[in-house]
Amino acid sequence: MLNTVENKESLIEALDYENHWNGLSTPMREGAQAISSEEKIEKIRGHFREIMETLGMDLNDESLQDTPHRVAKMFVNEVFKGLNPDNKPKIKLFNNKYKYKEMLVERDITVYSYCEHHFVPIIGKAHVAYISNGQVIGLSKINRLVEYYSKRPQVQERLNEQIAKALKEVLKTDDVAVLVEAEHLCVQSRGIQDTASSTLTSSYHGKFRDAEVRKEFLQYVNLK
Ligand SMILES: [Zn+2]
Repeated sequence: MLNTVENKESLIEALDYENHWNGLSTPMREGAQAISSEEKIEKIRGHFREIMETLGMDLNDESLQDTPHRVAKMFVNEVFKGLNPDNKPKIKLFNNKYKYKEMLVERDITVYSYCEHHFVPIIGKAHVAYISNGQVIGLSKINRLVEYYSKRPQVQERLNEQIAKALKEVLKTDDVAVLVEAEHLCVQSRGIQDTASSTLTSSYHGKFRDAEVRKEFLQYVNLK
């Protein structure tokens, strides 16, 4: 009996590996991680082949032959690898021996994501800041975190919040700011076809809710 309850709990935990982020977690179906990456690639290869054939393309053509497999590998191992919790970056903190108490800003972190409504790219930059709580993070780890959450079908608002939430957890501080500016190919290449617009989202926590602190951050980021 007890065993059943434990199993159920560990199952729920495994399913919601983002720890119930008040609706911030990427919607995943049950059993999402039950099949291996190799199996996922094999399934997607078959499905993508069907999509291409339905569109009327001749898969016997030399140029198209390997496309289904290529796309399947790209989905699982590259552009959507952030759907697999095994790929979450392992992050180690260091003691802040320099006693640096000001904000640290890392700007212009490349964002390549995909719009979850159209499966076309979202391309942009993330600007991230935090004020150390006594420990610091290796700078490239911030890039890795941004990359991990970007490599999923996303909406920009959720991406922004997921990065902020992860940084708060990792750095054990509330004093975190994340700003994302991005262009959505679903807006630029189809639909309204507006190539000039970009989308800004932001998430301010702890000391960054203070107008002066936020202003300092925005000055460093120096938006165009
Ligand atoms: Zn879209």
